Amino acid sequence: WIEAELADLEVDAEHGAADEGPLPVLAIVGRPNVGKSTLVNRIIGRREAVVEDVPGVTRDRVTYDANWRGRRFTVVDTGGWDPEATGMNLRIAEQAQVAVELADVILFVVDATVGITDADQEVGNVLRQSGKPVILAANKVDNQQLELETHAMWSLGLGEPFPVSALHGRSSGDLLDEVLDKLPETPAETFGAERGPHRVALLGKPNVGKSSLLNKLAGEERVLVDPMAGTTRDPVDELIELGGKTWRFVDTAGIRRRDRELQGADFYAAMRTRAALEKAEVAIVLIDASEPLTEQDLRIIGLVIESGRAMVVAFNKWDLVDEDRRYYLEKEIDRQLVRTPWALRVNISALTGRHVDRLVPAIETALDSWATRVPTSRLNAFLTELVQQTPPPVRSGKQPKILFATQASTEPPKFVLFTSGWLEETYRRFIERRIREEFGFAGSPIEVTMKIRE
Ligand code: GDP
Ligand code: GDP
Repeated sequence: WIEAELADLEVDAEHGAADEGPLPVLAIVGRPNVGKSTLVNRIIGRREAVVEDVPGVTRDRVTYDANWRGRRFTVVDTGGWDPEATGMNLRIAEQAQVAVELADVILFVVDATVGITDADQEVGNVLRQSGKPVILAANKVDNQQLELETHAMWSLGLGEPFPVSALHGRSSGDLLDEVLDKLPETPAETFGAERGPHRVALLGKPNVGKSSLLNKLAGEERVLVDPMAGTTRDPVDELIELGGKTWRFVDTAGIRRRDRELQGADFYAAMRTRAALEKAEVAIVLIDASEPLTEQDLRIIGLVIESGRAMVVAFNKWDLVDEDRRYYLEKEIDRQLVRTPWALRVNISALTGRHVDRLVPAIETALDSWATRVPTSRLNAFLTELVQQTPPPVRSGKQPKILFATQASTEPPKFVLFTSGWLEETYRRFIERRIREEFGFAGSPIEVTMKIRE
């Protein structure tokens, strides 16, 4: 039984997304109701994206893993915006802009039964100027008749329209072949066989000091990116030398374009955060120490937890915190971060540069933890002793046993316990805590799950 389960685990470990660096990103753009979610469902081959019948419902998930003909890529659905919000054309242009920022290839979906609208035109302009590869899908082409209509869509200046029916699957395979054709082997400007620089996502709500920190780290004299939309193709990531090593700060273009971030709906902020996490190995979450922690801060931390990435929490603007408050602030922070006691913390000032040099060692520790593999023999020896000292609670008169344990994957570390019965949540937590105490894992999430023999 255990061997059969282990064989499965090996497969899981091999397919761990984090092991192979960031996947190329396909972003889907289009007006509401053109069929983006239906198409996403086709692409990912599952009914996960959930087509919303209620207009304007914000979808929670935006990124999906896709696999077509053995090629893996990430699909970002930029469609979960709120069409009830004011200035629809403005918003859709914004949506397109975000897609341009995040994607290697953009799939622009229009509705063939409606034809080209002003909003479509607007998106077309943004995409055309971006210089990124764009595939124009004319959706809802359920029959031959409608296919003729799609010729009018050449007028968008995005090349040949691709007629599909997301609902019936018509030509969707061909469309995916076209996508694969345009997707880079690895995302733009990534590394070859070597793993290349470690990838860091710098996160935080507006005004916490992300740009300031980036400037501090990269050196003041660096030329800022021209913020005018569409005029240049901004580099998405930035390579920064720190502590004798090169680091890739992912999706910094979004940080630079702060004006938009400030106007942008929360949805876009969350989408950028998710997309950055997707590409990163470790996140630096910046928090403004001069103000109380907000919902938004906690939401960002929640997204990092969800992503399984290593995490460093940096309390910025420490120069504004006076001596008296520091002690209480530390206590307050402990309380707020109770869900992530493992996150590494540094107190910095991006303005004065205070303790900014402590960031690198923290990131390095977090990454080491994230990649740590505990040898199976050590793990089992440790657990055997632990269970002897503190056996799992008896359940319906039976004492569950841990038969065997293994670390199924790294990045993040995941442990699987093979048991003869159900282990209570509290007991699993206890084991998780003890594993941390024994083997480290500072700055990294870990997961402890069980497989119960029937
Ligand atoms: P989104 O808002 O762009 O994500 O659009 P949805 O995927 O939610 O689709 C909007 C509506 O169009 C739903 O009722 C879908 O069933 C329908 N739809 C999607 N694709 C097609 C298609 O290829 N043909 C037809 N006839 N309807 C479609
Ligand atoms: P972003 O929106 O996260 O990129 O934040 P910015 O880097 O633009 O910073 C927002 C404001 O906070 C600016 O006025 C900065 O000068 C200020 N700021 C950033 N870091 C610090 C800091 O460590 N101390 C103080 N006092 N102000 C800071």
